[in-house]
Amino acid sequence: MKRADLIVAGAGLGGLSFLWHWLESDNRSQRITVIDRTFEPRSDRTWCFWGPPTAMFSVTASHSWHKSEVLFGDFAARQNLGDLRYHCIQSEDYQRLVLARIQNHPNVTLIEASIQEIGEDDDGAFVVSSVGRHRASWVVQSVQEHPAVGRTARYPIRQHFGGLEVETARPVFTPERFTMMDFRVPQRNGVTFMYTLPTSETTALVEHTVFSPTTMTPEEHFEATEQYIRETLDTDFTVLRRESGDLPMDDTFPPQQSSPRVFNIGIVGGNIKPSTGYAFSRIQRHTRALASNFALTGRLTPVAGSPSRFALYDLLFLRVMHSKPAHALMVFEALFRQNPIENVMKFLDERTHLFEELRMFVGLPKRHLLGGVFALMGRLRWLRAIQPFRGLGIAASLFAGWLGVLWMGLHGLHPAAGTVTADGAWILLTAFLSSGVFMTAHEAMHGLVVPGFPQTNRWVGRLSTWTYAGLDYDTLERAHHLHHAHPATSKDPDYHRGSPNPLRWYWNFMTQYLTWGQVLRMHVLFLALLYGLSIPLSKVMWFWAVPLVLSTFQLFFVGTWLPHRPGSYRGDGPLKARSLDLNPILSFFACFHFGYHYEHHARPDLPWWRLWRVRGLDGDALHHAERPRLRAIPTLSSLTTTPVADRVQAS
Ligand SMILES: Cc1cc2nc3c(=O)[nH]c(=O)nc-3n(C[C@H](O)[C@H](O)[C@H](O)COP(=O)(O)OP(=O)(O)OC[C@H]3O[C@@H](n4cnc5c(N)ncnc54)[C@H](O)[C@@H]3O)c2cc1C
Repeated sequence: MKRADLIVAGAGLGGLSFLWHWLESDNRSQRITVIDRTFEPRSDRTWCFWGPPTAMFSVTASHSWHKSEVLFGDFAARQNLGDLRYHCIQSEDYQRLVLARIQNHPNVTLIEASIQEIGEDDDGAFVVSSVGRHRASWVVQSVQEHPAVGRTARYPIRQHFGGLEVETARPVFTPERFTMMDFRVPQRNGVTFMYTLPTSETTALVEHTVFSPTTMTPEEHFEATEQYIRETLDTDFTVLRRESGDLPMDDTFPPQQSSPRVFNIGIVGGNIKPSTGYAFSRIQRHTRALASNFALTGRLTPVAGSPSRFALYDLLFLRVMHSKPAHALMVFEALFRQNPIENVMKFLDERTHLFEELRMFVGLPKRHLLGGVFALMGRLRWLRAIQPFRGLGIAASLFAGWLGVLWMGLHGLHPAAGTVTADGAWILLTAFLSSGVFMTAHEAMHGLVVPGFPQTNRWVGRLSTWTYAGLDYDTLERAHHLHHAHPATSKDPDYHRGSPNPLRWYWNFMTQYLTWGQVLRMHVLFLALLYGLSIPLSKVMWFWAVPLVLSTFQLFFVGTWLPHRPGSYRGDGPLKARSLDLNPILSFFACFHFGYHYEHHARPDLPWWRLWRVRGLDGDALHHAERPRLRAIPTLSSLTTTPVADRVQAS
């Protein structure tokens, strides 16, 4: 059998989602082997998530709701979901949808077998199953936990539930409204609520759900569900189907990789939100990022996780649920009393901004949460919490430096002003720092100024391109991503248009981004300097206009012409680039390490100030360098672990 490029170990939600997103990518030439105990679709799970009415997979949804309710003893939040819908997909439908596309795909081989071991050695990654040993360059797996996860969680909460799909004797459900949480049930074992998904006035899936350290058996959950239907809904019923689950909602935060070539997806990849137990959307986001990059480059690359502040919120909720379940109920109630359900959903999906989050927290019982903030600070480690802002600090320093140098030049305040040498040096310094401002915009295009804050990156990028030369950031951003996907080809907007002559190429390069808006903005800036700040014309020309032109030359020659001019390249496809052979000091002055261009194309996740550390590396070494370290770095022997029993049971 031909060796595969990648093995998908486990074809549940995680494995099938990876395959789906790979199929949806433009470039999918790789050979993939998929291994699972069975490929027979199973109707044992109902996967629900929220999103826009046309969210991905919404057409496969068996039902979508536009109204929701959350019920407490003396308060009920019943609301429209605004521009959101709550979609539910039957696992069987999802499996059929994906399997129909992969079953006869020439590049995909399905193997029904029991997986016994997953690991990697010098020859790549491997999976040992009941039918033999399978080899590939990469493995994505949703079967075995990372060894580090076995360590004790500080807040070992589990979400355990058991539900019944029922047909009731009389109409008791509102089909267009689902019950997200009904807390009007005994709170004996932890935070307890009923979850109801009605499909008609007489049919629904009703689930008894508990967040607690100790679990209950499925039968106990079924019994509690029966009692709720009989006593609270006050009706007789017939049971059509049962489902139950026991999911981790703890603070172990499993790592994305078990080893360099074995990537964890699904629940074992940490894609369950610790404070809610929802996993569907996270699994989609994670597998889409992994699979589309794999389709494009043939490699797996770790995906940026949630911003650290969301991990802090999760920990706070977990801590309260663990130590004071009654207080957790108060937090839930305050959250839903003061915020529309739609906003709470966006927050739980980690799609809110810091300001919106602070507004949400204003009315929450602070005593229970604030105490936790201090207790948890030590755990998150300060440095990890502020690390995302390092890029912002560097960008702000560059911007302030450029403004200061520009100001001094325009006002003749620089040392030995008026002498040819000093003025010349100052013009070069201004040009260099102008390029630094543009480099900040470039960082923003890759989401690196403040990782995890896309809007902040966008606004920093806009500020940088506007002040640099009145350029439209959004146009540049789109073009830059096209450039990364197809460098040095006719699809690359930055590539030459027929003539590789550097001056003609430079001219075409510059004029393609010229717009009337930019001309207007540059005029306004020019007139503001001339008349607003009363700077003499000669100074405006020498200390503002000339450095700007020099900076565009610098950026073009170091970042476009030298690395992408026709000839032999170090890589292919998205890596069709070469690097300048400069030591890190010269490279910094050449143009903020932009000359390490092959490295930049291979690792667009690295900010300019870390590129020098991967200089000259290639292949695996380049791919793995400067990655965030795994929480527990496994030794090779510990990488081959046998699968744990399914942590998620379904009946
Ligand atoms: C009943 C239930 C309802 C849920 N509802 C929701 C919901 O509404 N919304 C939400 O966001 N999340 C929900 N979840 C949580 C989560 O979305 C699911 O658990 C999801 O299935 C996790 O995907 P996964 O790929 O990690 O695991 P799975 O889907 O369980 O996939 C693992 C796969 O690995 C295979 N496998 C395991 N061991 C072996 C072995 N040794 N050899 C070969 N194959 C093996 C299994 O057959 C399976 O196909 C629910 C979970 C359950 C149990």
